[in-house]
Amino acid sequence: MNTLSDEEFEQIYGRKPVRRVKKKKIYWNRIIIALIILIGIVTGLVKLTALVVSKIKGDDTQKTNKVLNNTSSVAVKEDASSAEDKKDEPAKYSNMDFTVCVDAGHGDYDGGTTDASGTRYEKDDNLKVALEVQKYLEKYGVNVVMIRDDDSFLELDERCAKANNAKADMYVSLHRNSYDGDISGVEVWVNNSEPEYDTKLAQNILDDLEKVGISENRGVQYGYVGNSGVNYYINADTVMPSCLVELGFITEDIDNKLFDEHLTEYGQAIADGIVQTAVDVGLVDESGKRLMSEQLISPEKPVNNKDSSSVADAMTTPMETDSSADVYNTQENEWY
Ligand SMILES: [Zn+2]
Repeated sequence: MNTLSDEEFEQIYGRKPVRRVKKKKIYWNRIIIALIILIGIVTGLVKLTALVVSKIKGDDTQKTNKVLNNTSSVAVKEDASSAEDKKDEPAKYSNMDFTVCVDAGHGDYDGGTTDASGTRYEKDDNLKVALEVQKYLEKYGVNVVMIRDDDSFLELDERCAKANNAKADMYVSLHRNSYDGDISGVEVWVNNSEPEYDTKLAQNILDDLEKVGISENRGVQYGYVGNSGVNYYINADTVMPSCLVELGFITEDIDNKLFDEHLTEYGQAIADGIVQTAVDVGLVDESGKRLMSEQLISPEKPVNNKDSSSVADAMTTPMETDSSADVYNTQENEWY
């Protein structure tokens, strides 16, 4: 049967056709059920993919560690943290071709100094920030030699020998300060011969820490607290530019608060200061390409002049700080 056109209908019936618009019934319940099933399938797929990816990554890590023949819990931890960092903004530097020795002061039975309650140990803070510095340096492509990456202890001569033997280009020792009184802030110690490279390293680290936020910039200091005639051991027995960072006073709440809140940023600031120094002294160019064929040494440090007497001097335990001296009296239980 032919369907009449509208015109034909009008001619025959004298009026326009009334069309009943058939309202389509929408089966909401079916749509909702379909949607729930779809969401279920998608969620399942996402979970499955994540599981497969993590399994593949885990296998890779194991393989890498086997190949390197250097399997350690720390290596696995680093893999995890670097994967986490990849989510962050791109690294500030890359392919930095030099070696840095990072020294977390004290360790094991040598707790260093403590806070007023006696429950917070310097050795733990030192290690925490050292691991952050390591993380950023490695992100920048720097070869890092860790004096310790756990709660272990090395003698001072062993620490220096480790850096010298590894032909590290720079040495950074990390500490927390202490004082029985109202002093806060960050200071960085350098050999009392005021060597140029070491001073630059200390200043760059201090500048970058100040950008993050410190309670007070106590500046670059030379020699040993209370006695500029002697040096901290690590500033005397290492051949490369070195410095000892006192990252705030563990005896001050404000410094501990800043330390806890900015741990990662402090780690990055110290790493940035190190890389900036490498560029400043012409060890590498901005792209990280190495410009010096030999290890970077600090030519003005007495140890490099084979002056055994000054090394011996530096190895001498400094006297207790004279209370009349125009410096604060360190409570730090250490002799370097
Ligand atoms: Zn210390």
